[in-house]
Amino acid sequence: MHQLCKKYSWQDIMSLQLNNHTILLDIDGVLMAHGEDIISPIILKNIEMLRKNNDIYIVSNSLSTHRIIKTSTALKIPWVDSGLKKPSIRILSFIKYDKTKPLVVIGDKILTDGLFAYRINAKALLLNRRVSQKDPLVVRVTYLIDDTIYSLCKFFFAR
Ligand SMILES: [Mg+2]
Repeated sequence: MHQLCKKYSWQDIMSLQLNNHTILLDIDGVLMAHGEDIISPIILKNIEMLRKNNDIYIVSNSLSTHRIIKTSTALKIPWVDSGLKKPSIRILSFIKYDKTKPLVVIGDKILTDGLFAYRINAKALLLNRRVSQKDPLVVRVTYLIDDTIYSLCKFFFAR
């Protein structure tokens, strides 16, 4: 549980030098803020580096399939079309991944990405969320709820 109580920067993640992992990658708050539609050059470069030595799949809870496909095409990374939302563990059955490689979930929300990682026995790398002025109110509310749970988790488990 304690691994869910840490937040990473992209720099932290890159310094882990992940190699031979299966990475399940989130979109919103991770690659782009919810209100953004372009991935920053630095993040693009990080993904490019990660892709060299790891298998990556996009697993997004976004309601916009268009957004997921656009991101998947831009990054040349397959997306998981399961019709399910994290933290459903059934998502895994839609991915043909190499079972010998350790699983890593890169996301920003403890209630979706964190719980998903916990349930599938993956390492959770929760990022300091990327936000934008254009993030819709409903999204900001979900962030507020998630950050409250995160703080509680940190309070009780990060010692
Ligand atoms: Mg997210």
